[in-house]
Amino acid sequence: MSMNHIRPWRNIERRPSRQIMVGNVPVGGDAPIAVQTMTNTDSGDVKATLGQIMAAAEAGADIVRVSTPDQAATQALKEITRESPVPIVADIHFHYKRAIEAAEAGAACLRINPGNIGDQKRVREVIQAAKDHGCSIRIGVNAGSLEKHLLEKYSEPCPDAMVESGLEHIKILEDNDFHNFKISVKASDVFMSAAAYQMLAEATDAPIHLGITEAGGLVSGTIKSAIGLGQLLWMGIGDTIRVSLSADPVEEIKVGFEILKSLGLRHRGVNIISCPSCARQGFDVIRTVEALEHRLAHIHTPMSLSIIGCVVNGPGEALMTDVGFTGGGAGAGMVYLAGKQSHKLSNEQMVDHIVEQVEKKAAEIQAAETSY
Ligand code: SF4
Repeated sequence: MSMNHIRPWRNIERRPSRQIMVGNVPVGGDAPIAVQTMTNTDSGDVKATLGQIMAAAEAGADIVRVSTPDQAATQALKEITRESPVPIVADIHFHYKRAIEAAEAGAACLRINPGNIGDQKRVREVIQAAKDHGCSIRIGVNAGSLEKHLLEKYSEPCPDAMVESGLEHIKILEDNDFHNFKISVKASDVFMSAAAYQMLAEATDAPIHLGITEAGGLVSGTIKSAIGLGQLLWMGIGDTIRVSLSADPVEEIKVGFEILKSLGLRHRGVNIISCPSCARQGFDVIRTVEALEHRLAHIHTPMSLSIIGCVVNGPGEALMTDVGFTGGGAGAGMVYLAGKQSHKLSNEQMVDHIVEQVEKKAAEIQAAETSY
């Protein structure tokens, strides 16, 4: 990531990893950290599954995973991969035939653990199918489904067991001269996940897929993920992320981007800086921010907007944002453009006017980028 020489305390040095391709999306190396989600429709229902993929892609998903538990699902995958605007990862658990079918159906990546496929012949067949169809593989170690011999050795799921499992799967792929893979070591326990990922980061140069599994509902899962993934990303670990929530996949994408935005690792859309509001507020901050979030969801250009209730913090925050509004007295406030005071604005006109200003600024940023 770019180094910030003026504010060195913002620098995150990413762990060097080798780069692989998931379809047309690079993962690892200096590629932007890819944000993923997973559909929760019946994968055999092409229309419903594509609907979720489209919505996730619109929200910014770089990659979407679809589970393919049976032949109906791998059959449907052909149409799904043909129509999807983003690469599709086929989620396979044990059945090697589903993996081969998914590779043939156009999956960009197979999520499968080679150690679970069965005998060597089957492993070779799956790897050959991945090679023939330009598929990558994601090894997905999960604390809840560790191999029996590791549970016997370590007596319970733990970071050492998870990493050992991951390295065993890696060895199978490398022994078959397959290097186009990434790896995850997920657990629902934040401490276990974080420790396992830190060990994994030392043990391999493969790109790392970060996730806290079964994190929970929208609020609790967001917090768990922000803590677990946040600290790993801060340490420079992680090349692609999936926030697992018992919620709509679009929410997973939004939360993923918010985590990356908070760390300055990726920027997308309008970063709204707003105060919590209090008795000093010159307008209804909470309702205004809600309305603006909704009205500005279509803007993908990275930019910042400050919406602050009063002059205590308004002018200071506006200094550092592209567009700003600070509440004042008598039902009006001040608009700031590029950190400078610009003009007064009545509270009634505020949402429409700020949307206009942000759209204008986004167009300017886009135009400046394309003229380079
Ligand atoms: S900026 Fe003003 S309105 Fe907002 S929380 Fe602070 S004092 Fe209250």
